[in-house]
This record gives sequence, structure tokens and C-alpha cells, in this order.
Amino acid sequence: MSVLITNIAELTTNQQERDAIPHSPATRPDGFAAIADAALLIEHGRVAWAGPASRAPAADEIVDAGGRAVLPGFVDSHAHLVFAGERGAEFAARMAGQPYRAGGIRSTVAATRAATDDQLRANLRRLAAEMLSQGITTFECKSGYGLTADDEERSVAIAAEVTPEVTYLGAHVVPPEFDGDPAGYVDLVCGAMLDACAPHARWVDVFCEQGAFSRDEAAAVLAAGMAAGLQPRVHANQLTAGPGVQLAVEVGAASADHCSNLTDADVEALAASATVATLLPGVEFSTRHPYPDARRLLEAGATVALATDCNPGSCFTSSMPLCIALAVREMHMTTQEAVWAATAGGARALRRTDVGHLGVGARADLVMIEGPSHAYLAYRPGVPLVAGVWRAGERLA
Ligand SMILES: [Zn+2]
Repeated sequence: MSVLITNIAELTTNQQERDAIPHSPATRPDGFAAIADAALLIEHGRVAWAGPASRAPAADEIVDAGGRAVLPGFVDSHAHLVFAGERGAEFAARMAGQPYRAGGIRSTVAATRAATDDQLRANLRRLAAEMLSQGITTFECKSGYGLTADDEERSVAIAAEVTPEVTYLGAHVVPPEFDGDPAGYVDLVCGAMLDACAPHARWVDVFCEQGAFSRDEAAAVLAAGMAAGLQPRVHANQLTAGPGVQLAVEVGAASADHCSNLTDADVEALAASATVATLLPGVEFSTRHPYPDARRLLEAGATVALATDCNPGSCFTSSMPLCIALAVREMHMTTQEAVWAATAGGARALRRTDVGHLGVGARADLVMIEGPSHAYLAYRPGVPLVAGVWRAGERLA
């Protein structure tokens, strides 16, 4: 069974091919690429062919895109979706002038511990469906609101029901019962809690920040996770220019996430490494903090991803189109750079080669938008533009 999607005004492939549209000088050689007046053939859930519609091969079924744009499904490499409760009042207070602090996580921890598995599962599935309807076809999901061995284990187990990209984030914040004993908590995170969680997870993460975990504590958590077979990623340099980015690069992390406060040495380290700088502009939008300096990273040669950081505290959006619009409007990324970062960049941040692009052999994860080019994602902010979503060749929205 083959399906040909034709009459595509612009097909973003992120594959540099002979029909690619040349774009801004800032576009990297492995960056954004698109084909005008295109078609795409899906076979066995994968991209079998992509090119000009005039040269399209025959297929069992034809889908007319109606002159819309088609892009790779968005890859959200940073989300916290296993939790209970909500923090709308905290958001309102913040907008009224109160500062954001990492400790606000504790209120979600209390609600999450009190929830049943089915409540956590229902909330997660609702958010996953919300993401899919907005074009996210791959997402990462962290634990980090349980903070006991049992509550972290059920968090990663429930996350693993909906995504293979599960991250153990026992080191999100020190829970209240370990007040005055952060070392005792780090021992738990590196010991019994890790043993319970590692079988369900692919990644280990730590919130390296004042008010959360120090460099030495974060290094211990990552080392223990890696010894248990998990791959590292780091919440780094969100609120202060701390040691998180340097630590992420030192341990070979797939991604350093936030990167909102960077020194020149941090930028150089990211540019010289395979560690992706994952920017989460929804957080700065929702906390009214200064946006990360994306241009500085791009111009230094760092690989940049965009992700939602969907979580109940600092950023409760599941909208990658919003993140793209913020990246373009507020962080001065080009529309091409922002779309690349939300697709191929996210895939790099998850060390995935099968998603984030539409080269031959890629998983047929597509998003079709109401508009003739990718630029509409930023040009029409806040508008529900997603007109179709396919995952592994199956139309889901
Ligand atoms: Zn986060």
C-alpha cells in the first residue's frame, strides 16, 4: 500500500537535495531545505520518495494537499507530562510581579504523590493528544514530580506507555522530607530510585541550578545514570550562568536544555561539541525572563533545538508552533532556522536519525499546515494551523 501526497506548495525535507530552495546565509549546510510544488510517497510507514510533483511516481492512493505546506512532524525533546494538579494561580501571581523560583516544583510534587496511576495516565494521555493535534509526532517525557523511588518508578513506567523517549529526572528538586540533607537525597537518586527507574528509561537528566542541584551533585547523578545504561541530558543555565552547560559537554550529553544564561566559554563549548543547545522560549514567555541568545549560539556554530518544556509550572504550553513564533519574533531566528530546530534539531537532541527530516527512509511523520509555506507558523501566531498529522505513515489528525 503506497500513498502519494501531492499538490504540496512547499515540502520541508531538511535534506539538501538538488531541488532544495536556497535560503538565508545563516542556514547551515545540514540545515533547512524545502522543495516547491512537491509530492511525497509513503510506503511501509516510511518516506519512499520526495521531489517535484511533476515527477511523482504512481501510488495506490493519492492525497491532495491542496497547495498547503508539509513539514516533518515536530520533535519535542523536552517535556514534563507526568504530573497532577495545576498552577494557574502561581502563573497569575507571577504575572502580577512575583518571581519564578525552582521550589515551585514542590506543589506539583505533592499533587502528583497524591494522585492515582490512572489519574497520572489520563493527564499524560490528554497532553500527548494535545501535542499530536498540534503536529508533535515525537516527544520526550520526564519524571521528576514523584521524588520517591516508588513515585518516580511509576512516573517513568507510565511515560514509557506513550513514548520511547523517557527521561529519569529524580534530580528535579530536593523534596521537603530531605530539607537540610541534599546529600541524602542525591544518594537516593543515585541508588534505589535509579535502580527502580532505569529499566523504564532511556535518559537521565538533572536540574543543575541554584536552588536545585550543584555541579558536584549533578555530576554524581549523571555518572550513576550512565553507569546504569542511561544517556545524559541536563537542565543547564536556566536562571543563572552556572556550571550546567560545561558539565553537559564534559559528559557528552545529547542536549543542554534552557541555555538562557551563557558565558562565552559555554557558547564555545557547545559549538565545539555534539551537545545540542535546546532552547525553550515558552519558559521565558511564561516567566517573563529574558530569552536565550539564539543568534549567538547559531553564529558560533552550535546546534540549536526548540522544545516546549511543557510543564505545569514554568511553561504550560504544548504548542510547538508557539515556540517557533517566539523563536522568530523574540529570538531573531529565521523562520527556516526555527522550523529546523523544532524538527531536525529536536531529533539531534534525542540522537534520532529516523525523525525530524523527510529524506528517503525517514519515518513518515508529517504535519500539513493551513498555508503555503513553513513561515506561516510564525506569520500567523496563535492560529490553529495544523491541517493534518501523519505518524509512521498513518494519518492521525
Ligand atoms: Zn524542563
